[in-house]
Amino acid sequence: MEKGQNSQGDARRRRVQRLKKMIMLSVLIWMILPVGLCIVLFGRISALNSQIEETQDSQQQLLQQIAAAVAQQEQITATMAQQTPLLDRKEIVVSAPVAGADVQNGDMAVVEPEAAHKVYLTFDDGPSKYTEEILDILDDYDVKATFFVLGKETEYSVKMLQEIARRGHTIGMHSYSHKYADVYRSVEDFSADFYRIYSYILENTGIQSTCYRFPGGSSNTISDIDMHVFTDFLAEQEIEYYDWNVSSGDGGSVLLDVDTLVQNATSGISGHETSIILMHDAASRPTTVAALPQIIENILAMDDTVILPITEDTTPIHHIK
Ligand code: ZN
Repeated sequence: MEKGQNSQGDARRRRVQRLKKMIMLSVLIWMILPVGLCIVLFGRISALNSQIEETQDSQQQLLQQIAAAVAQQEQITATMAQQTPLLDRKEIVVSAPVAGADVQNGDMAVVEPEAAHKVYLTFDDGPSKYTEEILDILDDYDVKATFFVLGKETEYSVKMLQEIARRGHTIGMHSYSHKYADVYRSVEDFSADFYRIYSYILENTGIQSTCYRFPGGSSNTISDIDMHVFTDFLAEQEIEYYDWNVSSGDGGSVLLDVDTLVQNATSGISGHETSIILMHDAASRPTTVAALPQIIENILAMDDTVILPITEDTTPIHHIK
């Protein structure tokens, strides 16, 4: 009986001890588990921290690269501002010397001779089949004129353009296309046309033209855009534009006879200090060529009056203010 009680007591003690062990074990597990989890989480956090640091580093590098790129961009913009939009004026040449001077397209300071009346013969729309004849007449009287030319690519036109330059006359720009709708469509179109005629003259003659005559004049009624937009554009390029205050009348739809042209081109000169005479170098204007000798003779016969090519020294005539 006692032995049986003892063995029962042993069994209970063992159960109690097992229970104790299990309780201890579960307590241990419950203590270890959070600690283990904490360790794992700490590990994760520190890994994430180092990733953040790496990202911050590369962000820093990226920002530095952006700053460097911006600085480079600013430098480029500054360099471009020095070079553009103005035409390169380093080797500025006056496209024609004053009358009588031997220097052609030289880098000379142009000083116009003193006279009470300065007269400028200007020919628009060339070169044409009459260009050579006009040049010969001008040579006969030893006077220099101004040709506001268009962009004509034929071999003959280029030859005539070069001949105008070779004989010491001023070459001005009169647009490349002379198509009003295209030239005056927008300032971008105007600018594109301007650079075309500027380059055409430069490439074929080496002359950097500095003067411009608007197709139809600055007071034309064709442009839908305020002409000041275009005069401002030219001013930015340091290009002067020249209208006229004496018209031969040879630009109209009716072909005028020689006497009328002479009368139109010469009357009124004595009333101006500066007379810029509008004429045309165009295939459809034969009477202009026929009238030219008389026009020149009449002007040369006037008191205190000189015929000059347009230079940067010339007082411009502007139709619009
Ligand atoms: Zn014209």
